[in-house]
Amino acid sequence: MDKIKMLTPLVEMDGDEMTRILWKMIKDELILPFIDLKTEYYDLGLKYRNETDDRVTLDSAEATKKYGVAVKCATITPNAARMDEYNLKEMWKSPNGTIRAALDGTVFRTPIKVKGIEPCVKNWEKPITLARHAYGDVYKNTEIKVPCAGKAELVFTGEDGQEIRKTIHEFTGSGIIQGIHNTDKSIRSFAKSCFNYALDTKQDLWFATKDTISKVYDHNFKDIFQEIYDSEFKDKFENAGIEYFYTLIDDAVARIMKSKGGIIWACKNYDGDVMSDMVSSACGSLAMMTSVLVSPDGIYEYEAAHGTVQRHYYKYLEGEETSTNSVATIFAWTGALRKRGELDKLPELMEFADKLERATLETIESGKMTKDLSLMTTLDDVVILNSEDFIKTVRQNLESM
Ligand code: NAP
Ligand code: MG
Repeated sequence: MDKIKMLTPLVEMDGDEMTRILWKMIKDELILPFIDLKTEYYDLGLKYRNETDDRVTLDSAEATKKYGVAVKCATITPNAARMDEYNLKEMWKSPNGTIRAALDGTVFRTPIKVKGIEPCVKNWEKPITLARHAYGDVYKNTEIKVPCAGKAELVFTGEDGQEIRKTIHEFTGSGIIQGIHNTDKSIRSFAKSCFNYALDTKQDLWFATKDTISKVYDHNFKDIFQEIYDSEFKDKFENAGIEYFYTLIDDAVARIMKSKGGIIWACKNYDGDVMSDMVSSACGSLAMMTSVLVSPDGIYEYEAAHGTVQRHYYKYLEGEETSTNSVATIFAWTGALRKRGELDKLPELMEFADKLERATLETIESGKMTKDLSLMTTLDDVVILNSEDFIKTVRQNLESM
């Protein structure tokens, strides 16, 4: 069988610990035998990030801007313990944070649906994708613990000398104050990424805030979304047969519980943090969740939603058997290959991505799965496979297709 040809390289960002082990197995067993793989390889493993003073992360982000599609392995975000473990020169920043800042993107997370792993919300027939704005609000706040009676004011001093001043509260005793912000630029990027992703995946887009209460702040989000929709996306949505609508966040929560799924739910930063944990827990686990960063000008970086699965890696280093779930990492590869196929008009590459996903899901549906899934499946007669055997079984299924 001839291998499938590619035109443009994928930006490949290798990572750390157990996911780095899975990364190699996935490439060797599921990608390289079938595809004449073209990638531009960046080693984002912590050791090499440290050697290059984190230059490699910036370079990989630049390469992603150049080529348009990247696939990323989970990486360690260093903390104090990692400083010693890896003998680091500095506590390097989170690679995801660096890449997100460079691409100015929005993160979309979608549960991977498979028979035998059922969401607790029975009517969710299709996955719900959470689009979380990843800048500002309470994540970049300034807070004061008010010690005594006094007046709290909100003051803006313009570069041009103008001043805007409002009273927050006349305190008669102790209390608290919080100042938060966002920028029109960031909200615009968020809106465009959401509209583009909805078109791309042909799903309705919901956006919700609390604009009835927050008549300036949240209302600004609502207005920017509406303005961009009307001026740039209305026709495209109508042609694609999909819908955009805005509603109040409490109404959205009520509706989501009754919906069949198959929609994109855009949320402000805090709402997205909370709601994505709700949706993912209701659907099983982080190991069955894809994540893609989409920039406002249509650049895509695919990854798994989970981390480097450190505890399993230490077992692996001890020579013990591991049963680590590789599904989300496999889906990061299929997402990136499919997108590359779409952009380069390579139907064979897109078909391959579909087949690999089917082979993966059919493996689980046939009762063969990793330990984490065996603990929550509704299937009987389950065979628990180790990390490597799971991937090898997926390969057998893929070959028989
Ligand atoms: P984690 O790697 O997601 O793992 C947390 C726990 O969830 C694991 O110990 C495991 O539970 C379970 N789990 C997660 N993924 C699994 C999989 N594929 N298969 C089976 N079980 C899975 O999170 P963490 O332990 O908090 O973080 C570890 C490292 O990952 C940290 O250095 C962090 O900085 C990094 N991280 C990276 C990213 C990213 O690059 N996107 C995201 C998050 C965290 P059991 O041990 O009970 O089996
Ligand atoms: Mg959270």
